[in-house]
Amino acid sequence: MSYLPFVALTAAVALAMEFWARFLHGQVWHRHLWWAHASHHRTRTGFFEFNDVFAVLHAGVAVGLIAWGEAGQGWAALGGPRWWALAMGAGMTAFGAAYFVVHDGLAHGRLPVQFLARVRWLRRLRNAHRAHHRGGRQEDGPPFGLFLGPQELKKASRAARLQHRQARAAAA
Ligand SMILES: [Zn+2]
Ligand SMILES: [Zn+2]
Repeated sequence: MSYLPFVALTAAVALAMEFWARFLHGQVWHRHLWWAHASHHRTRTGFFEFNDVFAVLHAGVAVGLIAWGEAGQGWAALGGPRWWALAMGAGMTAFGAAYFVVHDGLAHGRLPVQFLARVRWLRRLRNAHRAHHRGGRQEDGPPFGLFLGPQELKKASRAARLQHRQARAAAA
């Protein structure tokens, strides 16, 4: 039996989660659900913040998918009829774990993982995310994603420069 479809779907879902998280963060958290997300943009007083509810909800979906996909079949479930649910749950879990380490751990110091900053790529992710936190306000801009944060930031500043130039040209 080939595990290739399983691995491919797991990776695709993990990647898709970056875009899903970017969408939710930019279009929902910083708009309608700002009252909940604001806790993440204030100084935390304990270990938890109300914003953690979002992570718990996603973890619940991932656990549900894995439990339903597996449903008593053990490892055989990887090639079973609901392998896709397992793969989706695995992709979500992989993304969630990586997000927790890089975002909550490295960028916000909630885990002792500062040694990861020695890796250039992770340092860039951390710095890009900190740019999102610069103002501590609802109007804070990109990057809303994490793993493609540096690319998102670059694109946003390019767009802002263009807009600035157009505004100057219009005023002249
Ligand atoms: Zn935010
Ligand atoms: Zn953050």
